[in-house]
Amino acid sequence: MRKTCVALGRALYSTSLNTEVKICVIGSGPAGFYASQHLVKHIPSVKIDIYEKLPVPFGLVRFGVAPDHPEVKNVIHTFNKTAENKNVRFIGNVTLGKDVTFRELKEAYHIVLLTYGAEENRQLNIKGENLRNVVAARNIVGWYNGLPEHNNLQIDLSKSTAAIIGQGNVAIDVARILLSPVDQLKKTDITQHALEVLSTSKIKEVYLIGRRGPLQAAFTIKELREMLKLENCCTYWSNSDFKGVRDVLPQLARPRKRLTELMLKSLETTKQNVECNKFKPVFFRSPLEFLSSTDNVEKLKFCVTKLIGPDILRQTAICTENVEHLKCDLAVTSIGYRSLEADPEIPFDSSRGIAKNANGKISDGVFTTGWLATGPTGVILSTMSNAFGVAEYIVSDLKNGNIESKPGFDSIQKLLEKQGVQLVYWKNWLKIDAYEQEMGKQVGKPREKIVTIEKMLEVAE
Ligand SMILES: Cc1cc2nc3c(=O)[nH]c(=O)nc-3n(C[C@H](O)[C@H](O)[C@H](O)COP(=O)(O)OP(=O)(O)OC[C@H]3O[C@@H](n4cnc5c(N)ncnc54)[C@H](O)[C@@H]3O)c2cc1C
Repeated sequence: MRKTCVALGRALYSTSLNTEVKICVIGSGPAGFYASQHLVKHIPSVKIDIYEKLPVPFGLVRFGVAPDHPEVKNVIHTFNKTAENKNVRFIGNVTLGKDVTFRELKEAYHIVLLTYGAEENRQLNIKGENLRNVVAARNIVGWYNGLPEHNNLQIDLSKSTAAIIGQGNVAIDVARILLSPVDQLKKTDITQHALEVLSTSKIKEVYLIGRRGPLQAAFTIKELREMLKLENCCTYWSNSDFKGVRDVLPQLARPRKRLTELMLKSLETTKQNVECNKFKPVFFRSPLEFLSSTDNVEKLKFCVTKLIGPDILRQTAICTENVEHLKCDLAVTSIGYRSLEADPEIPFDSSRGIAKNANGKISDGVFTTGWLATGPTGVILSTMSNAFGVAEYIVSDLKNGNIESKPGFDSIQKLLEKQGVQLVYWKNWLKIDAYEQEMGKQVGKPREKIVTIEKMLEVAE
């Protein structure tokens, strides 16, 4: 059998998973780390190479999760254990589509697992979106979390009113950071440049605008509760948005019911004539245009919507003929993310902004998981379940197939070295980590993040 195969130009080994299986994972966010954790546990002879675009790991756990939510970042302890496994190698500062191609990876590895997330903003595609101080939530989040590409974000917080378009948890994160007392943020790993701008901020009022109603609100109860408890902040709802909501309560499933009850309770206890910052969720409004007589956004024009469709929770919003205007000095668009086609050979669904896949499989030997596979929905926990599921699919696929000899990292390393790419291994990341923690200690923060690639690479060396 072996002789025949060599004659065919392919060295076939045993189908058992005792043969060394070479897997590359592209992206070191939760999807990449959780999938690697499962694979390393279930394939005894696996070698996993995790390639990451940035010199630092953890994806949105580092660059998305809000700085005042340190407990969410505890998942990093689990990721550290995976990275320190002798069969796992982290290789930072390598971008798929720039430093290495999809085809080169397929040639080098038995399995290519794409977990490079969803990095692009969804756009509203309405007039005025390019005005100054109309900012995508992703950019603000990146700015306060130290994402190198956003460290120079120009944002003007010198006036009072911000309008956030979108009502998901990311929108709430941005509202909370804008309205939080700076003394609380000082103790987090928020970037120094963001802290400086926020400490002179004059934002006193933040609108959170959604197309649908309270029954379809996308934020979750934990995030809302935090807003309701935020120091020196009062939440204002509009009574008319809640017409008929109480009658529907008994029909709602538990999480939605509890969230709706909390909104109703807060509506009833709204504080009047109190000196405080204002958080104002507004429902049934869809943006039409950002307006200004200067370069800077001044107003948001939107239509009042009505809901259509039989299923209350899935109703969609359509514009009525009623149009309104809201004065605002900062507008933040928070309507979601989409993935990029990192390499033209990756089968990609441009309309949905995800890699084309069936339950995580793209083609023989090529899989995807996390936000690249599912779209940008769900939290770290759901990303973990998805990653474990796809990793299990890979394990069973490998058990059923023949494993031919592949060069793995040896060939990719040569390619990268030829291009002069500075590779950041786990030990190099640990230097960055130690440096950031030390810098943080000096100012009473858990870490002071390095915000440029150049500095990261300098410290890593
Ligand atoms: C602002 C924000 C806040 C959030 N807060 C929470 C929270 O508090 N709690 C919670 O449970 N969930 C939260 N989430 C959701 C959570 O972050 C996601 O569920 C999870 O990060 C998705 O994991 P992922 O690995 O698919 O993507 P990502 O975390 O985005 O990881 C993708 C990785 O791939 C890398 N990459 C990208 N392109 C390339 C390339 N071409 N080559 C190599 N590498 C590449 C990226 O640098 C990144 O490291 C939040 C999400 C956002 C956007």
